[in-house]
Amino acid sequence: MKKPDMLAYKDKLQLIRAQLRGDVSTMAEVALRKSGMEGSDSNGMPIHMAELGSDNFEQEFTLGLIEAEEDTLSLIDAALERIEQGAYGKCVQCEGVIPKARLNAIPYTPVCIKCAEQMENH
Ligand SMILES: [Zn+2]
Repeated sequence: MKKPDMLAYKDKLQLIRAQLRGDVSTMAEVALRKSGMEGSDSNGMPIHMAELGSDNFEQEFTLGLIEAEEDTLSLIDAALERIEQGAYGKCVQCEGVIPKARLNAIPYTPVCIKCAEQMENH
């Protein structure tokens, strides 16, 4: 995955983490930084602030979550770590590419759809 793409997911992950923690100041910070980037080189970004704030996102967010909030938080932290290492977007099980559609729905997922299904069936 390209670096600007990863950074967009990083923002998204940080936003979800802030929402989970009820951390309003971080949410505001991410929103501000995001709007500060508008007009510069944001065209290549797959995720826009409008999208993040949309009902759609809220819905995905609610549907995609959450049995255990703590588990989700640790998945988010792990995903942020993978972004730092440049390994984000790669399945930790089979090292296959995780499709962006899946990452957009569950940005903190560590595995591709195939591996997730295998894990569920066991
Ligand atoms: Zn996989």
